[in-house]
Amino acid sequence: MQTGEILQSAVPVAIGALLVALAAGGVYLWRGTVAGRQTKYFYDLSEKRLYVASTDTLPPDVGIGGEPGDGVEALVVRCPRCGRRRDRIVYLTRLTPELRQRMLADRTSESGGAAYSRAEIFQQTLVCRFGEDVWHPLSTDEGKAIRDSWATRCPEHGEPLEPVVP
Ligand SMILES: [Zn+2]
Repeated sequence: MQTGEILQSAVPVAIGALLVALAAGGVYLWRGTVAGRQTKYFYDLSEKRLYVASTDTLPPDVGIGGEPGDGVEALVVRCPRCGRRRDRIVYLTRLTPELRQRMLADRTSESGGAAYSRAEIFQQTLVCRFGEDVWHPLSTDEGKAIRDSWATRCPEHGEPLEPVVP
């Protein structure tokens, strides 16, 4: 199954699965590369450093220093031939305060949480190209372009870059 099929579905989806799909570039890819992993990359905007967070962390997170609350999720890609030394952050992701609060409340609710429509998730999930300072909702053309921008090739080897987790 391709990412696009999932993201364009009218059926409400579980939030955890969707965020993983967004972060890793696709559920198919995610299963193939990071199955079983319990961590993901975050980036502290004031410290300008990557760090490792558990997969259930919702961005923005408290972070690792500097300004509080500026830890955001980071999509990191790697060329299989270059290896870790050339890991690169492509874009950052955070949720609106409204969506984040609702998801946190759902976790502790007796019902165990709700389904979310694709439209509201796309409107309330914000992405930013790494190195820029402008956040775009995924519901916009620019947001979608940023989400898809990880799928490039290594300029040196021509290999497709792959999203990686810690
Ligand atoms: Zn390479």
